[in-house]
Amino acid sequence: MAKMIIIDPGHAGPTKDPGAVGPGGTFESDRALEIGLKVKAGLMRLNIPVTMTREMYDQPVTDDLSYRTDLANNYAAAAFISIHCNAAESPTAVGCEIWTTPGQTGADSLAEAVLGEFEKQMPGLYLRKDTSDGDGDKEARFYVLKYTDAPAILIETGFISNPEEEALLATDAYQQQVAQVIIDGLVAWLKEG
Ligand SMILES: [Zn+2]
Repeated sequence: MAKMIIIDPGHAGPTKDPGAVGPGGTFESDRALEIGLKVKAGLMRLNIPVTMTREMYDQPVTDDLSYRTDLANNYAAAAFISIHCNAAESPTAVGCEIWTTPGQTGADSLAEAVLGEFEKQMPGLYLRKDTSDGDGDKEARFYVLKYTDAPAILIETGFISNPEEEALLATDAYQQQVAQVIIDGLVAWLKEG
């Protein structure tokens, strides 16, 4: 039986932890969930087993990161993909990033596969590759990469702090494009075995 894929929409929602908030007032947690749900739907169509760490806009109880990693580890998951939106002080910061964590070498090939699909399917997109000097917030988010047994990556799907990307992130079309990149990268990686 195929092993479980865990999709992790970052943050918990407006009450507990909205994540970054865009200049237009939209929440990172909402966009991460919407993209995550599209990835889930795509994987289900391919009969790939998938579980999400969060399926509600507002997770009422907790944003305990260990809950997310325990879920993946209890499934002995094949891969863990965390979905976030980026934020920077400069409103002009743009693009997507994929993070892995040192020592989790199994994740490198997964990150490469997804990056490859970004390049193929969204050639106009600015890709910020393998940034290793994260700020404090990013360090905290690395928890899910560090404590997940499965190869784990964290994808920043655009800058919600950039008004243009905030608007893009809210569209069904952009969300679907990013979801397809994630799905195709994951499928290619699974085929590599
Ligand atoms: Zn985040």
